[in-house]
This record gives sequence, C-alpha cells and structure tokens, in this order.
Amino acid sequence: MRVKPAVLTKVLNNMTLKVYTAQYQYEGMNRLDITVKTGLLMFAPTWEMVMDYKKKKITKEKYTELYYEKMRKSYKTYTDIWRWLLRQDKVVLVCFCKRGEFCHRYLLKDMLVKLGATYMGEC
Ligand SMILES: [Zn+2]
Repeated sequence: MRVKPAVLTKVLNNMTLKVYTAQYQYEGMNRLDITVKTGLLMFAPTWEMVMDYKKKKITKEKYTELYYEKMRKSYKTYTDIWRWLLRQDKVVLVCFCKRGEFCHRYLLKDMLVKLGATYMGEC
C-alpha cells in the first residue's frame, strides 16, 4: 500500500509522545502508575514476576523476556489504550524502584520509543 505524504505527516504528528520515568512519589502532571500494586495492569508485570525476581528465582533477562511477552499480549488486547497513550503529549511512567535500578518502567519506555515516542529522562 502506498502511503500519501499527507497521511504520513498526520501519523508522524500523532507520534509526539514525550516519555519520562520517575519514582512512585512523583506527583506532577501526566503521572502514569504502572505498578502491579496500584497501577494500570495492562502496563504492569505480574505479581509472580515481581516476586520471582525479588527472590532471585528469575534473572533480569528472564524478567525482561516475560515482561515484553506480557506487553505484546497487552498491545493486542488493549490496542485502543496503547494508541491513546501514544497520542498524549507527555507521560511520566512511575514505579517503586529506585532511580536507575532495573525496573520495568525503563523496559516500557524502550518499547514506547520503538513505537515512536521520545525519551526525555528520569524526573
Ligand atoms: Zn519498578
């Protein structure tokens, strides 16, 4: 299928999401809680993944694999919510993990960047 330039421009203009990451205490605008405890479950890991990782039953690599597998299913099931998210101007993904620690908020950020978003850093 040939994409007309006007259509392409529209698509690109809709992909201006700026993604930030932050710790849970962040209280600013556009906060998006993605924790399994209190957040949007379509962007959260499972409790089993969280506990298995804490107990060192699974590695970072395994956790990453399981998380992306869950997100691919999430995208298929909640496509409208993913599209809504990608149309926002700004979103701040929050989780309990300390700044710079291994955390699914960085994994989700990488996935959103692949979908056209721009990463702006940790708040
Ligand atoms: Zn985390």
